[in-house]
Amino acid sequence: MTQQYRSRKEIYRKKPKKKNWLFFLPIIVLFIVGSGYVINSLLSDLNPEHKDAYAHTPLKLSSERKQAKRSLLKELADKQWQESKNYSTDEQTFFVDNLKHEDSLGLLFSHFPKDNAPDIVTGKQVSENYSKSLTRVYYNFSSYIWNEKKKSYDQTESNSGEASFIRSDTKKMPTTTDFFPSNEELMRCHFLIQQEILNRSKDGNTIIDEVLNLAPFKTGDLVVNKVNDVGIEVTLSQPIGDVSMVMLPWAEFSHYLNSSFVSKQYFPEHKNKQVALTFDDGPRPETTEKLLKILKEEDVPATFFVLGSQAEAYPNVLKEIIEDGHTIGNHSYDHKNLTQLTPDAIKTQMHSTDKTVYKATGLLPKYIRPPYGAMKESIAKTLDQPLIHWNVDTEDWKKGSSEKIVKTVNDQLEDGSVILLHDIHENSVDAVRPIIQSLKKQGYEFTTVDTIFKGPKSHTQYFGGSREINEF
Ligand SMILES: [Zn+2]
Repeated sequence: MTQQYRSRKEIYRKKPKKKNWLFFLPIIVLFIVGSGYVINSLLSDLNPEHKDAYAHTPLKLSSERKQAKRSLLKELADKQWQESKNYSTDEQTFFVDNLKHEDSLGLLFSHFPKDNAPDIVTGKQVSENYSKSLTRVYYNFSSYIWNEKKKSYDQTESNSGEASFIRSDTKKMPTTTDFFPSNEELMRCHFLIQQEILNRSKDGNTIIDEVLNLAPFKTGDLVVNKVNDVGIEVTLSQPIGDVSMVMLPWAEFSHYLNSSFVSKQYFPEHKNKQVALTFDDGPRPETTEKLLKILKEEDVPATFFVLGSQAEAYPNVLKEIIEDGHTIGNHSYDHKNLTQLTPDAIKTQMHSTDKTVYKATGLLPKYIRPPYGAMKESIAKTLDQPLIHWNVDTEDWKKGSSEKIVKTVNDQLEDGSVILLHDIHENSVDAVRPIIQSLKKQGYEFTTVDTIFKGPKSHTQYFGGSREINEF
């Protein structure tokens, strides 16, 4: 008796949260025995939306079921009482005969069929810190479902399969403004959301125009539906074609979100001596194919800023670029100086190229490189993708020797450089292997534009190296 009392106190001290169910358990049992109205009244606490959307037990139980439930509750109560001593502090046992969706435990609702909910669920909730503000929650649980034929409960052992994420402070599901504190943050990654909408569609080609013309979302346009290991799933207030829900993967969005909600694994330590290769004006099969082979042999990623007109003519080369793990950017449709065009003409240049690349690869160009590097603020603010310029200009278009190109790169090189080359010239392609080998020898690592600029943002110009970033 004394020992049991002591162990109970110990549990209270270590895991104060458990106090709730331990305390209420006898009362719940008594209520069920006494009236059978407990579940009824608890359910009325749920708002009607949750009542419909999630599984729940029937309001009135048969007398056989009530009796079976009573003895099951008693049996489970004793069992839990003993077992709970053994759990470490980051695990909490739980015992519920009614789940509320508002609770962190309520996330369990989604695991049961709506028409056959368990009367009782017991188990363990395993929590761990995911990021500064998020807790990752995983469940191992037993559910007890009434079997009308056998007049007894069937017990099923399960786990939640997929972890859920809740705010560490409120224990509630995070909201859109937790991740995107203002509309500004949403605007900066609008181009990535556009891609995710297309990914969700059965046939993105049917909604591509609508997606390209979408104004940036406001925080009120997106409602967080769930958060898991993959990312944040949001519901769109206005469906776009067949898409009403979109997943924003951590891997893609980590740099655009409130960082206290993002796991450290998405912010790797900065490495010194990183460079990115970029190739403009293609694709041109004769030279681009040769380049792709070299990049594959050297295991080096690159970004290809393609022209819409060339992309239209050679969609298979675009496909190859993506299959080899490289990135595609938009270099306008036919190499016009954008600062000399009307807003409508600029839009046509960019969107026609976006569409061509999407049609060939299923991906929108991730960045824009304006022809001749010509850009001004009023135009930058109308373009969806980040603007990627360069800091190392090889001037390979002057058709100098490969040796000269390699020398120019070495002369201008610094950490975080973006190197400009053209995959339409033989001499440029011939210079690529010597450039790679020379830089590797100096300890440089070839990486992506994404890594160099840590998630480049819309309405912003990037150059590379020590050149300043220019945000509009
Ligand atoms: Zn160009």
